[in-house]
Amino acid sequence: MCYAIPGKVVGIENSLVTIDYFGEKKYAKNDFFSLKIGEYVYAQGGFIIQRVSEEEALPILEAWKELFFKLQEIDSRISAKPQNLYQRANYLRQKYSGNSCCVHGIIEFSNYCRNDCLYCGLRKSNDRIRRYRMEIGEIINTAEYAVKKLGFKALVLQSGEDVWYDEDKICKIVSGILKNCACLIILSIGEREESLFGKAYKVGARGLLLRFETGNPILYEKFRPGHIWKERVGLIKKLSALGYLIMSGFLIGLPGQTKEDLEKDIDLTASLKPEMFSFGPFIPHPNTPLGDFPKPSLEFVLDIIAQTRMKYPDSRILVTTALETLDKINGLRLGLLSGANSLMINVTPQKYRTLYEIYPERAGTEISVEERIGYVIKLLQSLGRAPTDLGRGG
Ligand code: SF4
Repeated sequence: MCYAIPGKVVGIENSLVTIDYFGEKKYAKNDFFSLKIGEYVYAQGGFIIQRVSEEEALPILEAWKELFFKLQEIDSRISAKPQNLYQRANYLRQKYSGNSCCVHGIIEFSNYCRNDCLYCGLRKSNDRIRRYRMEIGEIINTAEYAVKKLGFKALVLQSGEDVWYDEDKICKIVSGILKNCACLIILSIGEREESLFGKAYKVGARGLLLRFETGNPILYEKFRPGHIWKERVGLIKKLSALGYLIMSGFLIGLPGQTKEDLEKDIDLTASLKPEMFSFGPFIPHPNTPLGDFPKPSLEFVLDIIAQTRMKYPDSRILVTTALETLDKINGLRLGLLSGANSLMINVTPQKYRTLYEIYPERAGTEISVEERIGYVIKLLQSLGRAPTDLGRGG
């Protein structure tokens, strides 16, 4: 299940490569390979991550060809004749972004955090959760299993803001994974030092998942004691300028947050030119100061997805685990039918998965990764979505 099919290189202009997928042209940046026209590559998130031989590529493309067009036809049928807000958003998703749905793997490697965000179960003051840290070798082995056995082409490495993993350790993890696996590595390790991100970029990390949480500086500084909103947004911008693909967004339903705040949040995310919008509902954790506040309804969150799609039709929008947690049976499907076109599968070893308790009873933690993949593939195919992740390129 590779989530990316090989494409043929049909154009090269400096580091920007044009790739052909059954007649569709996509663009990707080439940082790592010396390529020639006619060669086959895998691309993820707008980066070329692997060169493959023609002998390897052609049978894969042959196997995919029929399914590729069949899925497009199902998607076109489902998204035709829009009437309500969600259907209009889905129609625009189909029109501007096609039927590709990116499926990243996520490894939650540590639930330690030095911060005390009022809305998060991992906050350092929560002494009622069992903390864990994965060893460097264990993280690399987990990534290798996800790439080589499960077929993931993009992995998010996520943790609380855990300074036990210093520059040296983060670089060892990134380079250790890339030594044996062709994949896009996305760091989601909080607001760490710029120099750490710089070094991680040098050894091959290319993605950054860092939400600004809320575009309202007053709320931000109230809910994240000791942190400054401008510094957070400033760091995202600096790392974007450095070359990182940005995945960012906000929380929906924070106490005191208004509809106007959320409209600004959508626009602020767009202004960061993200590879992916990542926003999800605030779900209260009982062992936090915000534990008694209500969570937003599923419909409220779907409205934000749809509004984002209407405003920014060619975006990539994630269905977060938190959204799925609001409705474990229908959340993912409804998110995808309201304008979203991206999701993540948790590949963290089962023994740690329930411990990464940002909020309780997260969706997808109770079943094995293999079962989850089977479920996701079946769902995507029923909706006519191709689990490919080709990026929007340069
Ligand atoms: S939101 Fe992030 S930085 Fe804040 S306490 Fe949770 S894990 Fe730590």
